[in-house]
Formats: sequence, structure tokens, C-alpha cells
Amino acid sequence: MKGTPVLAVRELRKNYGPVCAVAGVSFSVAKGTVFTLLGPNGAGKTTTLEILEGLREADSGEIELFGQTVRRVTPEMKNRMGVLLQEGGFEPYLRVREVLSLFAAFFQRPRPVKEVLAEVALEDKARALVKNLSGGQRQRLALGVALINDPELLFLDEPTTGLDPQARRNVWDVVERLKGEGKTIVLTTHYMEEAEALSDEVCIMDHGRVIAHGSPRDLTAGLGQDTFIEFEAPELPAALGDLPGEVHRDGTLLTLKTANLVASLEGLLSWSRNRGIELRNMVVRQPNLEDVFLALTGRRLRE
Ligand code: ATP
Repeated sequence: MKGTPVLAVRELRKNYGPVCAVAGVSFSVAKGTVFTLLGPNGAGKTTTLEILEGLREADSGEIELFGQTVRRVTPEMKNRMGVLLQEGGFEPYLRVREVLSLFAAFFQRPRPVKEVLAEVALEDKARALVKNLSGGQRQRLALGVALINDPELLFLDEPTTGLDPQARRNVWDVVERLKGEGKTIVLTTHYMEEAEALSDEVCIMDHGRVIAHGSPRDLTAGLGQDTFIEFEAPELPAALGDLPGEVHRDGTLLTLKTANLVASLEGLLSWSRNRGIELRNMVVRQPNLEDVFLALTGRRLRE
């Protein structure tokens, strides 16, 4: 049933010596939904996931999984989950089918390898060696491995990092299909487009804490009625204070936040004309999760 939490954490904490990786994180994940931990490198996403996967022990906090409250994930719980780790690292001289068969052997009731191959669209690569797969195919194999035990709950740690846009979309398709089958999916990413495209709920993390939580739509709606004008300008004056809106600068990329789009566009055009500054790749867009992060922290997700 939708709405029933499959997973909840309360006040989860984890230090690595003096480094506080997870500083009191709480959230819950409803059955049949995609839940995303979004945050920059080092925000504590992987550590949180690894605790939930049973790979690490939290210093403190409570975990509720499949209706049971525990301090540490049990082997029975692990049997009901699938995990895609950040570093897959499969044996390069195994064939795709052999990798899946190998992982299938770890479980009492695995799914047929053929069925999983179809699910991740790798049927025509069944006999290919791992070393000859593209990055996207390798990632789909990793997804297949995570699905071999027919898990109810899937953890996907940065499933599309380093993939090209097409390969990323292929992975998204698989995630959407799995959600359609009623699986619950917890993923981490630092791509805000990915979080927006896939998630029912997003937890934005920074420095080990949850700094915002909600559906992508609710999170961006929290920014109000503002619109964003983005453009690149190869040569810019040092002072940008007279631009018609609130400015954020990231190298040569400028983002102008405005509540009055028409006035700001007019102002921007005369600003560029008067100063002889060329505006390149100009786009007008609605707020996104990157803007939410920027508004909360003053930084971009990938600075
Ligand atoms: P990334 O996107 O880079 O994976 P993340 O949000 O997943 O980042 P974590 O990998 O959980 O973040 O790391 C959180 C913090 O804990 C970082 O400061 C990191 O350097 C530190 N850290 C992670 N693993 C260890 C470890 N095994 N020993 C010491 N420090 C660690």
C-alpha cells in the first residue's frame, strides 16, 4: 500500500574519527516510491545508505525497516533488499550472464537470469565480457545484480555518475519501470535533474544534515514566484551590482533571480548594450532543485 513506510530513520549519526559524516538524519520512505538523497560530494549520502544497507553501523539513531525497529540491519532484512554500490567493480573477464548467475547463487530464491537480463535490457549482451561493456551497460548490469533476489527495496548509490546523457536516460527508464512494479527505491545523486526526474520525495543533504525535504514541486515552490535568467558572458566587469535582479556568479555563468521577468529582461538587455557585453546561451527558466540548494547554502551542488 502506498503511504506505508518501508523504511524510516530517526536521528542517525555517524562519525569517522573527527569527521562527522551523518549528524542526526531523520526521514521516512513510503512503499512504492522513489526517495532521493540529493547533496554535494561529502554530504553524507553514501554513509547514510551504507548504514541502511547493513554495511556500516551507525554510532546512534534508530532504523525502522519492513516494520521492525533495529539498531543494525539484520541478514533477513538484507535478503529483502537490492544494492547498487558506487564502485561496482565486477570481474572484467566474466561474461554478463556469468556475473548474474554468480550473484544469483548467493540467494535461496533468485530470479531467473534471463528475466533480469530483459529487465535491464542486456539480453543481447548476455555473452559479452564485462570489460567490453560501455559505462551505461556496466551500470545496467550492476542494476541487474541488485535485482537478482527480487528485492522489495532497492538502494542505488549514484547510479548514473559518469554516464553520458543517453546512458543516464536508459538507467532512469529502468528505475521508472521498477517503480511501476511497486518497488521502493532509495537513491543518492548530486544531479538535480535526476532527483527532479525520478523522485517522489527528495531529502537535500549538506554537511551530514537534512536541510530540506519534500517533493521536487514543493521544494521549488518554496522559492516563491521567482524566475531565473541564465546566461554566459565571456567578459564581465568585476562589479555586477547594477544588474536588474539578484545575481549568482559561477565562473562565466550568471544566474539572475527576478520577480519581474519582463522588467529584468529589458534591464539586462540595456545593461549589456551599454557596456558592450555579449550575452551567450541565455535561457529563462523556472526554479529547480539547484536553486533550492543555492538559496539554502549559498553554494551550488557541484562547486
Ligand atoms: P559522495 O557524493 O562524494 O559519495 P557523500 O554525500 O556520499 O559524498 P559520504 O561518502 O557519506 O558523502 O562522506 C561523508 C563524509 O565522511 C565526507 O567528509 C567523507 O570524506 C567522510 N568519509 C566517508 N567515508 C569515510 C571513511 N571510511 N573514513 C573517513 N572518512 C570518511
